[in-house]
Amino acid sequence: MNYHSTRHSGGLVDSARAVLEGLAPDGGLYMPEYIPTLNWHATLKRSSMGMSAAILATLLPEIPDMEELVCNAYEGQFETEDLTPTAAVGNFTVLELFRGPTSAFKDVALRMLPQLLTASKKVCGVQEDIMILTATSGDTGKAALAGFRDVPGVRITVFYPDGGVSKVQRAQMVTQEGENVTVSAVRGNFDDAQTGVKNIFAACQGKELPFRLSSANSINIGRLAPQVMYYFKAYKDLLDAGKIYLGDEVNFCVPTGNFGDILAGYLAKQLGLPVGMLICASNANNVLTDFIRTGTYDKRRPLLKTTSPSMDILVSSNLERLLYLLSGCDCELVDALMKDLNQNGCYTVPDRLKVAIGKEFWAGCCDDARAAETIGKIWAEHHYLCDPHTACGWAVAEDYVNQMNDHRPMVVLSTASPYKFPAAVLSAIGGDESGDEFDQMERLSEITGVPIPKNLATLRGKEERHTGVIDKEEMLEFVLGL
Ligand SMILES: *Cc1c(COP(=O)(O)O)cnc(C)c1O
Repeated sequence: MNYHSTRHSGGLVDSARAVLEGLAPDGGLYMPEYIPTLNWHATLKRSSMGMSAAILATLLPEIPDMEELVCNAYEGQFETEDLTPTAAVGNFTVLELFRGPTSAFKDVALRMLPQLLTASKKVCGVQEDIMILTATSGDTGKAALAGFRDVPGVRITVFYPDGGVSKVQRAQMVTQEGENVTVSAVRGNFDDAQTGVKNIFAACQGKELPFRLSSANSINIGRLAPQVMYYFKAYKDLLDAGKIYLGDEVNFCVPTGNFGDILAGYLAKQLGLPVGMLICASNANNVLTDFIRTGTYDKRRPLLKTTSPSMDILVSSNLERLLYLLSGCDCELVDALMKDLNQNGCYTVPDRLKVAIGKEFWAGCCDDARAAETIGKIWAEHHYLCDPHTACGWAVAEDYVNQMNDHRPMVVLSTASPYKFPAAVLSAIGGDESGDEFDQMERLSEITGVPIPKNLATLRGKEERHTGVIDKEEMLEFVLGL
């Protein structure tokens, strides 16, 4: 199947090449020429891994042996065999995406990406090693390290801002085992680390290197496509529970940062799944809320630090894919809008595109105080513990139901374990948040009786293997010396 850039309809590549390259040469994102058809009834009858294989084989048809790749990625890696369980909580269904090996929803995609990447290498006849370079503000780094650990032919280097990630997140990364992994702190903030990585890509362009550089970011279609599965899985769970009939539409509310997760929901809909409204939940960084409501995307505002840091983002890169799809694959328009964004920090979409978006998407935002209140309320009323990202989703889902009076079943995507943000969760349920994060985890578990995920519980006291700290100017040298 042919893929091309969202900004240019020429330059066709197949799906394996799209995964291997990550970003299109013109800076656009790869999209298939058309969305293929999938027998969605039959797909719903399968296990989570079976669904994943069917969906991935449809979207990435040039990559062979998908059943086997899916098995390699997921078998025995998640807390439950169905990978992404659901829980009925009050009037909503919570889709738990955090049951993977690092307790972040990014595990679903980052377990699969290494399999897709190595298979694509083979299809394209690429011999040299791939070096994955990633700057992380926390969750992506660990999920990528765990996913790429000891994968043959691939190496991975993760940079995180020194002092800029939580104690648990740091412990998760610096204790990472594996022969092909490197982790380093960088003096500076996340932007410094990210800019450093971009500079390395630029400096290495066209150079003879012992490896090929690539990224684990959600701009890669190979990271986006694995996320379609859990929309089907949630739908299947509602069917099995007798809450819907086959064909009934279900709404999904998604805590959103880079717009990858919610876009996967739109792809599920395009593949035939009866998805109703897709609700985009933001925290106080509400660029997307403004955009979906007004049609103007404006990043010219300060980035606020919140208790849901994975949603602290001003430029949501995967939104470009939505603009492409809902403009009727108008590459010229997308190219012009992205130029506006780069040059002026903002763009406004034509009215018909704004209307098209509004038919499929609704948006809302939730600040830290409301998120905390929501965590406390869900705990008090339903005895269900959720993290601040999920709480934003829940609060916005409630706003949607109240304002739009749409009572189709609602699935709220839960993107992190409450134990990844123990201080915020403890304070929200009225617990004492003294001590370090490990003390807080234990106290949270004592108060609530909810077990600490094993990968987090065993972190304390684990050997630290990657304790280096470098200046941002040293990052290129660091990578070339590996
Ligand atoms: C990455 C992340 C998100 C945002 O997902 P996008 O695909 O970037 O929109 C939300 N919550 C958590 C916990 C995350 O790690």
